[in-house]
Amino acid sequence: MAILKGIAASNGVAIAKAYTLETPDLSFETKKVDDVSTEVNRLHDALTVSKSELEKIKENARLSLGDEHAEIFSAHLLVLSDPELITPMEEKIKNENVNAEKALDDVATMFIDMFKGMDNEYMRERAADIQDVTKRVMAHLLNVTFPDPALIDEEVVIIAEDLTPSDTAQLNKQFVKGFTTNIGGRTSHSAIMARSLEIPAVVGTKTVTEDVSEGDIVIVDGIDGKVIINPTEEELASYEEKQADFEKQKEIWAQLKDEPTLTKDGELVELVANIGTPDDVVGVLNNGGEGVGLYRTEFLYMGNSDFPTEDEQFEAYSSVLKQMGDKPVVVRTLDIGGDKELSYLDLPKEMNPFLGFRAIRLCLERDDIFRTQLRALLRASVHGNLKIMFPMIATLDEFRSAKALLLEEKDNLIAEGVKVSDDIEVGIMVEIPSTAVIARQFAKEVDFFSIGTNDLIQYTLAADRMNEQVSYLYQPYHPAILTLVNNVIEAAHAEGKWAGMCGEMAGDSIAIPILLGLGLDEFSMSATSILPARTQIKDLSKEELRSYKDELLSMSTADEVEAFIREKTNQ
Ligand code: PEP
Ligand code: MG
Repeated sequence: MAILKGIAASNGVAIAKAYTLETPDLSFETKKVDDVSTEVNRLHDALTVSKSELEKIKENARLSLGDEHAEIFSAHLLVLSDPELITPMEEKIKNENVNAEKALDDVATMFIDMFKGMDNEYMRERAADIQDVTKRVMAHLLNVTFPDPALIDEEVVIIAEDLTPSDTAQLNKQFVKGFTTNIGGRTSHSAIMARSLEIPAVVGTKTVTEDVSEGDIVIVDGIDGKVIINPTEEELASYEEKQADFEKQKEIWAQLKDEPTLTKDGELVELVANIGTPDDVVGVLNNGGEGVGLYRTEFLYMGNSDFPTEDEQFEAYSSVLKQMGDKPVVVRTLDIGGDKELSYLDLPKEMNPFLGFRAIRLCLERDDIFRTQLRALLRASVHGNLKIMFPMIATLDEFRSAKALLLEEKDNLIAEGVKVSDDIEVGIMVEIPSTAVIARQFAKEVDFFSIGTNDLIQYTLAADRMNEQVSYLYQPYHPAILTLVNNVIEAAHAEGKWAGMCGEMAGDSIAIPILLGLGLDEFSMSATSILPARTQIKDLSKEELRSYKDELLSMSTADEVEAFIREKTNQ
């Protein structure tokens, strides 16, 4: 038995025989050719067959995964028709009298190297697209069979160096129980698709293809990010139990998917999700999310080689709004800076980036960037229930300036004859202590608050959220945090507004009873935390939790708070 550690990319436990997805030997001989036109035709034939295969894969992906994922193959199909790639290949054959294999390889390698060397994740992904497509074309030129996961007809766990999007789209959930790869991270395409398919997956194991042989029994533990190869009887039994427990648990959770979130004493609570891309919406709906409480739009900027255009942003925001129907969608405007950088935006090096030129500070200074986003949001507003929220607000002036720009762009659009919703709530994230302290003054002007505890905790306890050495100070249950949170909720309610929370604390099983007792209206968390939270809330009495409020707020330490809640809620 061997155990490998990797990155838990998709929840669940899979146990099955290993199926190694090996790319066939694609090595070729460089040949001199005299009949260049036949060679150019060979290239075009291989491109045409590859294209029709990819059309089929794209259609399968559309049916099993939806339009959003199928779009990846549009990118692949574009590669196959891109004259910037095809023309140099043809010219190479004609001018250098080389065979199609050599021309394909040389030109593709040049583009792949160029994109791979770029300091930008989006362009590096384009390199992966070209690599993926080139292999398929090469296999046709060499007349060898390209692996086709769609042909698998027994239960397996797929083992691969990496899974290309086209591999992933062909996986048949009936037989493919899970997969594990050498490379990749939580945001790689294969990981994103695994979560959409709800197939357990562990990526980034570094060596799984070397450690596993065809036919070995493999356990993919997508809960804890482990891969167990040829487990002992005992290991197998214990993982079968873990698998059964998880499945049972999921069934119990799923019963509440379409239920409202009600406490034991009948109070309604709103459970919504945090997302980073339009693709994440599927998971929100599958997990019974009642809306989106935080759409972190910076991923749209980070996954790009330049600022996304107004139209690109409009597409992304509209897609989320349309998919969510009349459910609320809170979109946060650009929160760049701190630990989040843009390769194409030269920000000054700072001593304290988390206290520096970031988020709304940057947007107010660079209002060209900000206005583009606001226009895209306003245009998308007619497609759903949009709420806009500004990050890192420290003063009322910042909020007023940001809102003024929003209203200005709204007027501009209306003057241009563009339809804009008249019903957009405008709120702020409360993640800076100054704002939490004078929440009462803010509450008169904003439509809602969303408490960003990830930052609020670091600023209140002066403990960098990225620094391991001071992580002991990162205390969500610290009475100072509870006091600030309570202040924000009371301020909102005094002005007839609502208060939510989109920091990680909102999905924490110790924090949930505290927040319910303080009267938090909306809890925003990762999609897979929603059903466990709904299950927990069903057994809690809001009235009882409310009665603990004064006692909790007068406690002296986080440990005291935690011990008290554990005892009262049997955790
Ligand atoms: C927060 O600070 O709590 C938050 C939700 O924002 P982010 O984690 O993106 O900084
Ligand atoms: Mg934050």
